[in-house]
Amino acid sequence: MNSEDITGHLMNAHKKNPDLVIEGGLVLTMAEGQAPVSNGRVLIKHGIITDIQSRKEKGEGPGLQTEVIDAKDAIVMPGLVNAHTHAAMTLFRGLADDLPLKQWLFEKIFPAEAKYLNPDTVYWGSLLACLEMIASGTTCIADGYFFQDETVRAVHEAGLRGLIAQGVIDFPAPGVPDPKKNLEVAREFIERWLGFSALITPGMFCHSPVTCSEQTLKGAWEISRRFDLPLQIHLSETSDEVNEVIRKTGKRPVFYLDRLGLIDKGLIAAHAIHLDEREISCIFEKGVKIVHVPESNMKLCAGPAPVRDMVNAGLTVGLGTDGCSSNNNLDLFCEMDTAAKLSKVYDLDPVGLDANTVIKMATCWGASVLGLEKEIGTLEPGKRADIIVVDTHQPHLCPVYDPLSAIVYSANGADVKDVIVNGKVLMKNREFTTLDPVEIMEKVKAISSKISI
Ligand SMILES: [Zn+2]
Repeated sequence: MNSEDITGHLMNAHKKNPDLVIEGGLVLTMAEGQAPVSNGRVLIKHGIITDIQSRKEKGEGPGLQTEVIDAKDAIVMPGLVNAHTHAAMTLFRGLADDLPLKQWLFEKIFPAEAKYLNPDTVYWGSLLACLEMIASGTTCIADGYFFQDETVRAVHEAGLRGLIAQGVIDFPAPGVPDPKKNLEVAREFIERWLGFSALITPGMFCHSPVTCSEQTLKGAWEISRRFDLPLQIHLSETSDEVNEVIRKTGKRPVFYLDRLGLIDKGLIAAHAIHLDEREISCIFEKGVKIVHVPESNMKLCAGPAPVRDMVNAGLTVGLGTDGCSSNNNLDLFCEMDTAAKLSKVYDLDPVGLDANTVIKMATCWGASVLGLEKEIGTLEPGKRADIIVVDTHQPHLCPVYDPLSAIVYSANGADVKDVIVNGKVLMKNREFTTLDPVEIMEKVKAISSKISI
């Protein structure tokens, strides 16, 4: 037998003896060209989807040893991918609202981070983020912040999948008081966690082209390339930032980064609001991945990103919430709804960013942004079982004419009833299996009682 025959043989053997089965419901696979499977059955063995069946066609039910998730009156779909966040910023949720971005960042957030972030607070803030993300159907995150050993610990304990990146900035930062050591700290972080878990990929996150020098950006890129890991960055979030880069370098940010060698398929750029047509074509040609962060962009008055144009140009665009202090939640259902509606207002185009497109951004395209498209993002035999079950037996989800519409325009994160990552159930019937919500919320409340800016 060749390797494909062996894989097929194993898959057939596993179909007969799954360790987890999702029974019933409408299965929205998000696989290209595949229609939803009604009254479905998803079979899972050793963390991998082995088959997706229609129960009408195949009557044989799960065996006695199999754990069963009941998905009657529910939509079964890929777990959501939050492609840009800063998990521990849950600590600063609601601390500084209704401010211009520069004032918010320099007068509130940077000082709060300097004063209150430490390994303990980052750990509990990250655990709270994991709790909130599981509760709202997110199964995979791309995170960038400080004291990231603690975020790795939290994400690992929660059982989520993630690209966890050490923040790099050319100011004294939490845990990195000497900015000259920022790259060294990030490299050591990568070395410490590479190979630790199949679910966690370490990486680096450069804050932005204006808060990181040319030397830092090039250094971060070289280290990321050496380990073959993506590099995350905030790109062209404000027009001020774009003007500052032009003033310093004579080039728009994309062309400045291109000169440094960063505009390449290993770069994940969040925001990407103030881009011109030439920058969008350059990004497409070089394969840079984009993360749209609509609620943060709106709240900080950064402006609307040209997402419809980027999607039409063929760019890979994922969806993110950004940190909790500029959103103020981590609910990707809200983010999908906002992304679709914001495009309608901004582009004056009701179909440009439809429900199907924004679900792709939050699932399969998000997986591609993180380089995980072969493992997650769609429900297909052979892929990792990162799956959520959305309860549609609720007034605001009745009736369901179109599941895509229901997910984007009617549902919210609290409708998610079951969450599975890598075949492990992290939430069943809204009960968490890996985290203690009372302990985490009490701990964060105690931390927040000492925070004031
Ligand atoms: Zn961000």
